[in-house]
Formats: sequence, structure tokens, C-alpha cells
Amino acid sequence: MKTNYHTHTWRCNHAEPDERAYIEAALSTGTRVLGFSDHTPYPFDDGHCSGFRMRCDQAQDYVDTLSALKQEYRGEIDIHIGFEAEYYPRYFSRLLSLLEPLGYEYLNLGQHFLGNEVDGPYVCTPTDDPDMLERYVRQTSEALNTGAFSCFVHPDIFRFTGNERVYREKMRNLCREARSCGVPLEINLLGLGTHRHYPRETFWEEAAVVGNQVILGWDAHQADWMKQPELEAAGEDMIRRLGLHRIQYLTLVRPRSK
Ligand SMILES: [Zn+2]
Ligand SMILES: [Zn+2]
Repeated sequence: MKTNYHTHTWRCNHAEPDERAYIEAALSTGTRVLGFSDHTPYPFDDGHCSGFRMRCDQAQDYVDTLSALKQEYRGEIDIHIGFEAEYYPRYFSRLLSLLEPLGYEYLNLGQHFLGNEVDGPYVCTPTDDPDMLERYVRQTSEALNTGAFSCFVHPDIFRFTGNERVYREKMRNLCREARSCGVPLEINLLGLGTHRHYPRETFWEEAAVVGNQVILGWDAHQADWMKQPELEAAGEDMIRRLGLHRIQYLTLVRPRSK
């Protein structure tokens, strides 16, 4: 792929240690734009610390390390510095304030919990409850409308097992919201390559109807993950087959804290 805006680092506790390895892997496959978007730190109350994201005190080092690599690789590959963030209404402005002084460039929306991870359910827990699905749509729509996000990654992560007609209707609304907010949707190659419940075909059929901009993302937690031409081809095939509107480059938006 020419671009990938979804790359993790070791700080989230579930990815490969060496940032440089991702850059070299990207270069070796002809990628010219590599965006890092590790799981953002989140400033919860009472010092709650999640195991799948960097700590708040690691954010500066994350940005500094990538900034140095960005300079070093200048002319070979464009490195961008971002975060993957959930939209947790209760903590979001605090998050933006925390990130404000850092020299980062963009946020990907990746919504792994409803409400927030301290008090809400995990979106990959199967449910047939349309109200839960509606909550996911409402929360992510609100997120899209903040204008803080450059891309919505694995928008189809919510694991709904109920009525398919209801699913399509709600997802079509979500796709419309993303389109009107100008936020592209990511087909997640980690999900595709590991046979998760996403990418979910019917979601993308709705996105095709709505005419969303669609981008492929590796969601790399290991450098070698990006060296899978057959997986990339499977993603491209899906785009062609469903008649989706593919883009390769994101317009990066730097969120502003209020
Ligand atoms: Zn991850
Ligand atoms: Zn990710």
C-alpha cells in the first residue's frame, strides 16, 4: 500500500518493541506514508490505568521518538504522528488538553467501549440488543461531529448479533454521519487477516450505498504484519467487489482543545 495510517508501538503493551522495524517494513513494501496511531493515553479519574494503552507520562516520549524518526527518514518516507482514541464523552476534553502540548498530527477514532472503559461494555461482546447498537451509533456520531478525528477505524467493530435489517438501518445512519462530517472509514486489515467479526460485509454494503470514502489500514501491532501482499489484495478485492470509493491519503486534522 502507498499509505498506512494505523500503526501501533510497544507502549500499548500489546505490540512489537521497535518503531524502526515498522518503518523499515513499510519502506520494503513501497509504502510512502506511514502514520503511527498508538492507543492514546486516557486521563481517567482515580488514576485508573488501562492495560492496552500507553500511560499519560509516556505520551511525550512517544511523540519525541517518532519526531526524531520523522526527521531521520525525511525524503524516504513521510511519517505522521497520531493516536487511536475512543470517544469517551466524560473524559474527551481532558484528553485533548493532555495531548494539546504534544507535537502530534491526528486522531483516529477507534471505539472499543460504550460510555467509557471504566463503566461501559466492550463493543466486541456479542449482543442482539438494538438499544446497545443505537448507543454505539450515537456515541460515535457525536465523536465524528467533534471534528477531532481524521479517520474512523474499524467502524464495524460493534458485534451485533440481532436483526440484520435493524443493523443495516443503523449502520447506514452512521455512514451518513461520517460522510457528512467528511471522515473516511477504514477497512481493518487486522480484522480481515485474523478472521475477526469485522470487516463486516453488510456494513460495507451500506457504506457503498452512502458513498463513504474508504481507506485500508493495517492496524499493525507487528512490523511484519505490513508485509502481506495477499491480505492487501483481499482488502482491495473487497473494495472493488462492493463498489466502495477508495482513497489512499487522509487529510490530517489536528484537534483543538477547548
Ligand atoms: Zn491494539
Ligand atoms: Zn488499532
